[in-house]
Amino acid sequence: MTEFLVTIHTDKKLLKHLLTPKIVVDAYGYSIIPVELRCDHCEERIGVNGRPAGYALFDAEKLWEVLCENCKRRFHPNKPVYSSITEALKHET
Ligand SMILES: [Zn+2]
Repeated sequence: MTEFLVTIHTDKKLLKHLLTPKIVVDAYGYSIIPVELRCDHCEERIGVNGRPAGYALFDAEKLWEVLCENCKRRFHPNKPVYSSITEALKHET
């Protein structure tokens, strides 16, 4: 199975996973670290409500990185793009 991309804003499960805040527990209690989605290559902020949209790069095993539109065009121009992980797995397995 090869690598493929999923558009983030069209997959609610993926979106929920990516936007889940991290909770850090320490001696004083806990703090919640809010999530801001940024491109793993250029740090550009990724919109989650349609455009400008971002992409998540997967292979069979795991989620590798999150990409903005520009970096997707630059680094992965020919990878297949799906609207959800479920959709991708139908085609890529
Ligand atoms: Zn980028």
